[in-house]
Amino acid sequence: MKLRILHVEDSVDDSEIVRRILSGDGIDCEIKRRETRAEFIETLRSGEHDLILADCSLPGFSGLQALALAHEYAPETPFIFVSGTIGEEIAIESLRNGATDYVLKGQLSRLPTAVRRSIQEVEQRERNREMEKRLQQAQKLESVGTLAGGIAHDFNNILTIIKGHASLLERECETPERVREISAIIDHAAVRGSDLVREMLAFARQSGGVFNLNDFSALVREAVEMMRAPLGPRIQLETALDQSLPPLLLDSGQVERILVNLITNARDALPHGGRIVVSTGRINEPATVPCLQGLPMREYAYLQVSDNGTGMTEETRRRIFEPFFTTKAKGKGTGLGMPVVYGVMQMHNGTIDIRSEVGKGTSVELYFPLITEEAHPQVRPPAAAPRDTRGHETLLVVDDEPEVLSFLRIMLEAEGYHVLTAANAEEALALYGQHRDEIQLLFSDLGLPTLSGYDLSEILQRLRPGLKCVLGSGYADTEVKEHLHDTRFIAKPYAPENVLVTIRAVLDRTSSLPAS
Ligand code: ADP
Ligand code: MG
Repeated sequence: MKLRILHVEDSVDDSEIVRRILSGDGIDCEIKRRETRAEFIETLRSGEHDLILADCSLPGFSGLQALALAHEYAPETPFIFVSGTIGEEIAIESLRNGATDYVLKGQLSRLPTAVRRSIQEVEQRERNREMEKRLQQAQKLESVGTLAGGIAHDFNNILTIIKGHASLLERECETPERVREISAIIDHAAVRGSDLVREMLAFARQSGGVFNLNDFSALVREAVEMMRAPLGPRIQLETALDQSLPPLLLDSGQVERILVNLITNARDALPHGGRIVVSTGRINEPATVPCLQGLPMREYAYLQVSDNGTGMTEETRRRIFEPFFTTKAKGKGTGLGMPVVYGVMQMHNGTIDIRSEVGKGTSVELYFPLITEEAHPQVRPPAAAPRDTRGHETLLVVDDEPEVLSFLRIMLEAEGYHVLTAANAEEALALYGQHRDEIQLLFSDLGLPTLSGYDLSEILQRLRPGLKCVLGSGYADTEVKEHLHDTRFIAKPYAPENVLVTIRAVLDRTSSLPAS
């Protein structure tokens, strides 16, 4: 590749000498020579150069001025003084002002080395920046992943309780008392689930969500279709969706929610009916969109919701993201719609642009950075074939969720097992002390307080080599799974059949070799 050099130099001959020396040293270059300040600025603006060389004294224009201009227009471009008269003081000052190097015209043989070094420095800086950007992205994804994992864990527990007890209902339907007991547990779990959702929503406005690769336009279409019926016949809802968008890393639930908020606002602005248009598309040149100027991403996907409704005043537009700000009648508006939109866009590193004119209508544009990281594949347990799952052995069952524990006990006892239950590793160890000769299998949750289920299984297997262990977890964690040679792993929420089959299979294994 040719090195593009911008040379601030009034002597054609000197510029030619520089070109010859660089080419003679194997540096393939193309030199643009500029003499005046105006010419120099114009060329700087074009940005088409890799290196600036400057003479120190030019008629009507000094080298230091050139340096200041270069600093303003092209701060990343290396700048080398090539001058016949650079005094030591000016040399020092120029280096302090950001010049990369200086070479005296009498010692031009040094020039190729200086040029090579400055280019390498720029490349190194670029590489560092790229690394840093990737690291930040990775950290962000990691924290989102941790949060998603935590939520998934809680939900899995709740679902385990609900699923487990629902399947018990079938078996216990002859005993009204048990049915009442079981349905109370299910109800309680459902309440816990909705509490969790509420907390999550509050939280999601400030921090990470559950990100996945999504077909953006398909997601938008689904949400729009959901809104069509409630809008009524007087409002026309139209779409213009770009089907060619690549999959986007999004929290689909949040994106649906903001779309519902925006369409609801548009509807409220159309009391006598009108038109709402929802469109999606791709921005390849962010510099052309005012609200994206100066932002780092190279590409954006946009979602636009526009209406030809009442529009809003400048005052309303300014306050629109204030929580609880509403112009609607009591009981009609919460004033939380747009703050939620704002929070979700923050979470997606996105940007919002709102244009509105009283009497004409409103257009809300949301810009999502185009990030298309590969999602992590989920680990799923293989489906088990139905077989005899009854048994008479003594099992030590550990889970810090009392309801999960009660479900496991009821289910395992119904199969004939003798079940000892513990809420944590310490309790489990105490029970092991009392029943060491009876216990034939440990079935523990991985995520226990203090000592984990994995630690517990290790301790017990050290006390009793070959003790059979089954570990369950809400985290689909491949790393943990790889560690577990003598142990089987079951994913939560527990499917009762899968638990029974796995426990039976592990008990029936003659040795404790790794399960296939
Ligand atoms: P709410 O809809 O509960 O009032 P929002 O946060 O969704 O709360 O909106 C805040 C205010 O912004 C609304 O009360 C309304 O005055 C104004 N607004 C939002 N969207 C539109 C729109 N499409 N057209 C006109 N005004 C709007
Ligand atoms: Mg609203």
